Amino acid sequence: MKTTTIAAIATPIGNGGVGIIRISGPESLDILLRCFNKKKSEIKPRYAVFGTVSTGDFTDEVLVLYFPGPNSFTGENVVEIQAHGGAFLLQKLLEHILTLGATMAAPGEFSKRSFLNGKMSLGQAESIMDKIAAECESQLAAVSLVRQGALHEKLFAMEKELVNALAQIEATLDHPEDDIEHTTMSAIKPKLEKIHDSINCLIVSANEGRIMAHGIQVAVVGRPNVGKSSLFNAIINRQRSIVTDIAGTTTDTVSEAILYKGTKLVFNDTAGIRCDACSVVECEGIHRTKKVLDDCDIVLAIFDGSAPPTKEDEEILATLKGKEVIFALNKADLPSFNASSIAWKTPRYTTVCTSALKYENIDKLKELIYKSVINKVQKEKTTRLAKKDNAIITSLRHLQELLHARESLSQVLNNSCVPSLDMVATDLTRALEHIGNISGTRVSDAVIDEIFSQFCLGK
Ligand code: GDP
Repeated sequence: MKTTTIAAIATPIGNGGVGIIRISGPESLDILLRCFNKKKSEIKPRYAVFGTVSTGDFTDEVLVLYFPGPNSFTGENVVEIQAHGGAFLLQKLLEHILTLGATMAAPGEFSKRSFLNGKMSLGQAESIMDKIAAECESQLAAVSLVRQGALHEKLFAMEKELVNALAQIEATLDHPEDDIEHTTMSAIKPKLEKIHDSINCLIVSANEGRIMAHGIQVAVVGRPNVGKSSLFNAIINRQRSIVTDIAGTTTDTVSEAILYKGTKLVFNDTAGIRCDACSVVECEGIHRTKKVLDDCDIVLAIFDGSAPPTKEDEEILATLKGKEVIFALNKADLPSFNASSIAWKTPRYTTVCTSALKYENIDKLKELIYKSVINKVQKEKTTRLAKKDNAIITSLRHLQELLHARESLSQVLNNSCVPSLDMVATDLTRALEHIGNISGTRVSDAVIDEIFSQFCLGK
């Protein structure tokens, strides 16, 4: 099938000093020449050429860069037109280029072509997307870690072992009579156990990678009226949640992120866990609260220190067992506040006395939340580095593929009876497919489409 030539605006929508239109494909230079006042001989590859583009309706002075394939981002002939960065102007220029023979690029199509032309691995393509989306230092650090290639080396090593084991099984199955070296389950088992261990290490690294890439997830819980919304607003430093003295005002989870020491802290203000909730909306809110609690890295549990604990406080305390918790005793400004009251001495969580109203101890709260999670992650990292293991995963998609791959291998390894080689081959092929969906060596078209469709237009 003939490759089309695609075009899109590569810079963000909006007005700026410069805006770039990118064209990629066999006809990119010809299309440019149909609207540019220079001859082909005047366009030197990889040199900026100043000239005028004309649409018939208007002209613009531009800089043009031409990268002949395969030495370009996509591996194809690429033209980049640096025009003046007006959103309307760029849109009109792009429309004109489309009339000259280019097709509108789909989101991520430039990167997809780059991957399909072997210019970068799937992991590198995904890390470009993460780099563009990065909002803090730890996210950029996570991208660099993935790009350093340790993950891909590890994946390729696992694939090699799996392909090797499969080849031995197939030879044994296809030529049972021949005088070749036959394999048995006990012969390949140690290799599979090694791969299983490698997958496990990557799965463990997902926690560290997720926090670097997506931030620390904090669940903010507490019964109505303890000052949850007020404290939430104080932490994020703006009025995001509604503050009232009517119980149960917050019926949905409100999420807001702040940057703290280069890491994203995502605070999820929950609807609370009211034991007497009756409305459908409140029940759904409580359901969501429980989900946030399950998925979070740490809980910020807020109580009203100016009054003794209520039945509802006790209920909340009961849901926190086994979780990482920071305990905020709020309303410290009130005369009735009594942090040392025997009633509040129940759990031995790290406790901070706060006043959302007077903005007291808010920074201390942030520091404790950050430290509690980061210290744990640091320990995991030290263990990983002690094993000279640099590979880390940061993407949820990768984690899911690895969980599937591990499951397929576990089917073989945990089988109480010795499985037939046929069955082993099926499970190993499945494991290989899941690993291939990360490394990109055996990735299915559906997965490729899914990944690249999440890219932005012009990328
Ligand atoms: P939520 O229902 O737990 O989200 O609680 P809100 O943030 O809506 O606050 C309930 C009431 O407590 C409001 O009248 C707040 O002004 C008040 N409040 C919240 N935090 C404090 C605090 O630290 N000190 C005092 N004195 N009142 C507070």
